[in-house]
Parts: sequence; C-alpha cells; structure tokens
Amino acid sequence: MRVLVTGAAGFIGSRLCWRLLNLGVEVHGLDDLSRGSAERVKALEKSGMFFHKADVRDKVAVYEILSRVSPDVVIHLAALISVEESIRVPELYMEVNAEGTRKLVEAANRAGSRRFIYASSAAVYGNPVKLPVAEDHPANPLSPYGLSKLIGEKYVASSFMGREKSVILRIFNVYGPGQRPEYAGVITRFMERLSKGEPPVIFGDGNQTRDFVHVDDVVEAFVRSLGAPLDKAIVVNVGFGRPVKIIELAQMMIRLYGLDVDPVYAPPRPGDVGESYADTSLARKILGWIPSIGLENGLRKLIRGEDDGNNV
Ligand code: NAD
Repeated sequence: MRVLVTGAAGFIGSRLCWRLLNLGVEVHGLDDLSRGSAERVKALEKSGMFFHKADVRDKVAVYEILSRVSPDVVIHLAALISVEESIRVPELYMEVNAEGTRKLVEAANRAGSRRFIYASSAAVYGNPVKLPVAEDHPANPLSPYGLSKLIGEKYVASSFMGREKSVILRIFNVYGPGQRPEYAGVITRFMERLSKGEPPVIFGDGNQTRDFVHVDDVVEAFVRSLGAPLDKAIVVNVGFGRPVKIIELAQMMIRLYGLDVDPVYAPPRPGDVGESYADTSLARKILGWIPSIGLENGLRKLIRGEDDGNNV
C-alpha cells in the first residue's frame, strides 16, 4: 500500500509516519516545513520515507506530486492549528486549511486515490449543547480555525470520488511526545512551566472540561481508517470519551511533577469552548477503535520523557 501523509513533519503526522513505516507501508510525506520539524523528516527519510516539500496552497506542486506518487490513500493532516492565531489572521487559515484541503482532494481525485482520510477537529462543534458530543451534534465553530476545518470537511465529504470513500476524524485534544509548545494545547503549556518549577496558568476558572487523547491512540485511529470497509463517507469522533476539568488536569500534573505550587488564573481566551468530551461509540462500531492510554499513565510517561517521539 502506498500512502501519502500531509503534515508529515508535524506532531501527529510524524508519529503516524513512523507507525506506517513499521507496518511496512510505502510512506510519502508532504509538508512545507513552515511549522514542523526538519530533523524529524530527516530521521523518517533515513527509515525509508519519501519526502516532498510543498505548500498545500500551491496547486501546481500538489497536483504534480500526487500524480507522480499516485497514492492509494491520502491522509491529510497539514494545517495551521492555533485558535488564537486564526482570530488574528483568518485569511491565512482559510487559504491553508480550507482551500488547501480542496486542492488536495482534487489532486487525490485526479491521481485515482481510493480513500481520503482527513484530520478534522472537535473545534468544528463549537460550544456543545449536548454532552457527550456525538457526530450528529450541530457544527457551530467559534473560531476561524474551527470554521476552516469544517469547510475542509465539506470539501472532502462532497468532492472526494475515490472508490473506498472518505473518513473524517474529528480529533479532540491530543497530547504526547513531540508537540510544539508555541501552538500546542494545555498539557504542553503546563509542562513548559512545571518543568521549570513554575505554576501552571489556567485561562478562566478551570471548570471547563476537555477530552484528552494520547497521540498513539490517535495514530491507531488513522491506521484503522486505512482499511475499514465503508459504504459511505463517514465522520467519526476521536477522543478518549472522558471529560477532565482543566483544574483537575493542573492538579494531576503538579502531583506528577512532585511540586508544591498552586495554579495561577488568567482571563478566559476568546474562541475557547466551555465543556467538551466525545461520544466515541461510532469509532468503536465502524473502525473497531478503542482508546487505550489513560490520561494519568500517558502523562506519567510523557513527563518522565520515556519516549522522545522521534522514532516510534
Ligand atoms: P502540527 O502543527 O504539529 O503539524 C501540522 C503540519 O502541517 C506541520 O508540520 C506544518 O509544517 C504543516 N503545514 C502547515 N501549513 C502547511 C502548508 N501550507 N503546506 C504544507 N504543510 C503545512 O499540528 P498537529 O498537532 O500535528 O495537527 C495535525 C492535524 O490534526 C491538523 O490538521 C489539526 O487541525 C488536527 N488536529 C490536531 C489536534 C491536536 O490536539 N494537536 C486536535 C484536533 C485536530
């Protein structure tokens, strides 16, 4: 099987590429290296990955690479991922995340790919009106980031013509080794401060909940999506399925670091949702996927640095 992974230099994409190489898949990574790590790509290339440096906004380059590689499956993770940045520069988010996805879907169609797997986000739901959040929950994104991911979904679901259908994974809050602090989620930000003995900063009152899922469980959901038999395009949640309050997370991490500090509070950020956690029953039913790494275990391994995320 030949698989093209966009965003291969990124946090989730690079981890997925390692896993696919270990499964014996022919892996082609695509990334513009604007945010990802060139070192990670070098290590992946040494292990057999083919790398294509390109910007998903560059239609000519994307068409040329896909027609040359002719991948059986395209897994599209390349994106800009910061909610805050998307509020500052919404045009950029629409160009990369929405239009970039459209160009990639068209190129995959031309190249005759059989399946398209798209990394979407729980951000498409916006503020949940019903918990847990199931796939039929209304999609009312609160930020240009969430909207750009939703438009990407629509392009995939309505335009991909491959014979084995598309899979859209709505991923909740991912954590694990190799996440970049600048644009990362709360766990990486807390780690940055706690590793220096400083208290974590909580935006808002800390009662907001998130659904944290380990990157290896997320990678497994992509792997299962490669071969799952489908009779129509599907949208599937990828979360652990358990709400964790940010204050509980802070306390757990303070304990794991063995520190005696109290969290610091800052005003809530625009575009952040209040409460959120996933109904994961569809993923279990359709993909046979069940997340297996509990938060405390995943955090313990992460904090001890048992795995640097560079050669899984
Ligand atoms: P990341 O920033 O680590 O990786 C994204 C990669 O895309 C980077 O290597 C970057 O260089 C590349 N990229 C950015 N713009 C590009 C462009 N114009 N052309 C080509 N490549 C480009 O992010 P991540 O956390 O690995 O996220 C991967 C995907 O998963 C994204 O689509 C994101 O929306 C989705 N997602 C992530 C999370 C999370 O918690 N990390 C949650 C939900 C969804």
